Amino acid sequence: MRILVVEDERKIATFIRKGLAESGFNPLACANGDDALHLASSERFDAIVLDVMLPGRDGLSVLRQLREQRNTVPVILLTARDGLAERVEGLNLGADDYLSKPFSMEELIARLRAVRRRLTGEGLSVQQYEDLSLNQITHEITRAGRKIELTAREYALLEYLMRSPGRVLTRTQLCEQVWDYHFDPGTNVVDVCVQRLRRKVDDGHPVKLIQTVRGVGYTLKAGA
Ligand code: CA
Repeated sequence: MRILVVEDERKIATFIRKGLAESGFNPLACANGDDALHLASSERFDAIVLDVMLPGRDGLSVLRQLREQRNTVPVILLTARDGLAERVEGLNLGADDYLSKPFSMEELIARLRAVRRRLTGEGLSVQQYEDLSLNQITHEITRAGRKIELTAREYALLEYLMRSPGRVLTRTQLCEQVWDYHFDPGTNVVDVCVQRLRRKVDDGHPVKLIQTVRGVGYTLKAGA
């Protein structure tokens, strides 16, 4: 996968470029919006990792230009931690995903792989994380080759977690996505379901996949 990395902070650009190269991607970095637009319209990339905060033409302006030029290259925005407005604007302008700074390389790579899966249709029906696999057509779940039986709700919860490994999902997000509650149910329905799911997925395995992020929510991530 050939990736254009647009980031003016040299340290971060180097960190991303190295991390991508180590994971088998083919990155090219540039440091400003005009170069990014020029490169994106003269060369082919499989995705662009685009920082929003750039001197001169900023990332949102680059994205707007690209989409106006009917360039559909997948774009992952790098936004400020509290940049809700820019994330919303970015998604409205046609960004495919975003990461807020600071982010982990692991998460960026997972997002890029997800972009590739969406593009190629490859693995669309089977999601895999570590030794856990979920088939969206048959609803079969296996861990290390052993089948796991889940209720419909547990399946929906796991499927949502597996969509973005490493991303912390809040109880509110889980309530909305898995239970379709757009209000606080005022119960610990999420925690109870996560605990049941965790027993089925993680018990008996030294590597635990469902992690609690204290005070925030849950994430799918290999750990102790
Ligand atoms: Ca920047």
